[in-house]
Amino acid sequence: MPPSIPLKWSRLPFQNSGSFWGGAVPKGKGIEEIKQELCRFAKLAWERRLIAGLGGNVSARVPGEELILITASGVSLRDTAPRNLIAVNLDGELVDKASNLTPSKELGMHLAAYRLREEVKAVFHLHPPHATAFATWGSPLPLVVDGAKARFGYVPCLDYAPSGSEMLHNIVQKGIGLFPNAWAYLLKNHGSITLGRSVAEAFYLADLLEDAAKIALLSTLARGGYPEVPR
Ligand SMILES: [Zn+2]
Repeated sequence: MPPSIPLKWSRLPFQNSGSFWGGAVPKGKGIEEIKQELCRFAKLAWERRLIAGLGGNVSARVPGEELILITASGVSLRDTAPRNLIAVNLDGELVDKASNLTPSKELGMHLAAYRLREEVKAVFHLHPPHATAFATWGSPLPLVVDGAKARFGYVPCLDYAPSGSEMLHNIVQKGIGLFPNAWAYLLKNHGSITLGRSVAEAFYLADLLEDAAKIALLSTLARGGYPEVPR
């Protein structure tokens, strides 16, 4: 069952003036606002310790365009700024060729989500410690509390492949196709992906995922075994 989070975005009309790549900028929530949101929630993900060091990557769809903004390779999410976000099209081609930065090596998994699901407006790939601990089991996340169960319904664990590899991106693409109603996925021995209908939603689902995993892990300690999942 998909999470019942209010839809905050819808397709927005355009105005034909000056984005930095020369394309159309939508009215309402425009490119600059999306950049600010990505920066705010990327930093929050780092501060919440959903990621450490230089790991993790986040992206958002530019409303009304076949473009996404994604964080750069080698830049900590803590240091995300509008100047180091990179615009690419849905084929993964750089739109802003003036930048010396390169997109995250996990660009392929982000593109898979946007290509397969029109409703997805933001993707957060993080390494939340407790969720990732469960990801080493290779099993769906045990959703032991009502809140997480209601929001996620089901959190599958996708097979392992090395970080940044085409094989991993193919696994993610296949996983999203197999579980088209999921909003969160574990990556075996790696981390998590959360999808959102807004940047805020993708972040909050990652935060909730980690909290749910922490509670499940505490449950294993309290019970002395794998947590009991209510039906
Ligand atoms: Zn990763």
